[in-house]
Amino acid sequence: MGVDEGIRSGAFQHRLTALIPHGPAVGDTFDSMEQIWNDLYEAALGVLKPRIVSRYIEVGSVAAAIESSSGRIYTGICVDTACSLGLCAERNAIFSMLTAGEDGIRRVIAIGSDGKAVPPCGSCRELMFQLMPDSCRSIQIMLDYGQGRIVTLSDLTPAWWQ
Ligand SMILES: [Zn+2]
Repeated sequence: MGVDEGIRSGAFQHRLTALIPHGPAVGDTFDSMEQIWNDLYEAALGVLKPRIVSRYIEVGSVAAAIESSSGRIYTGICVDTACSLGLCAERNAIFSMLTAGEDGIRRVIAIGSDGKAVPPCGSCRELMFQLMPDSCRSIQIMLDYGQGRIVTLSDLTPAWWQ
């Protein structure tokens, strides 16, 4: 069963809660949690369009979706360039959120060109820490969408420098 098929059929619905290390966030119900992760995945999938835009720049081989504190979803794609001018999909999504006037993140998912979730790199983790130094540890990050494996930013990076 493919990821999309699994999502639409709800096949992994029960696995989602079973594998969440710290359980749903306070106030979350099983159904709302399931739906928001579906929405985030679909939003990321919607902008996942790998393409070459010039002889120096490729974009869209990774796509990210974040849920802000208000519940809005922001997306971003990676921008890969010569001379390291590019940007990860997660930070692109976060900057879109900041541009829209919001500054808090609840959930993050990034997916590669195969549709599988990928964890944020060190730079993206650092940006999230600096953006939300007092509450960043609760940011939920999808590590494996097919298996419904979710961790917190603190799980990924337990010893921040601050
Ligand atoms: Zn990154």
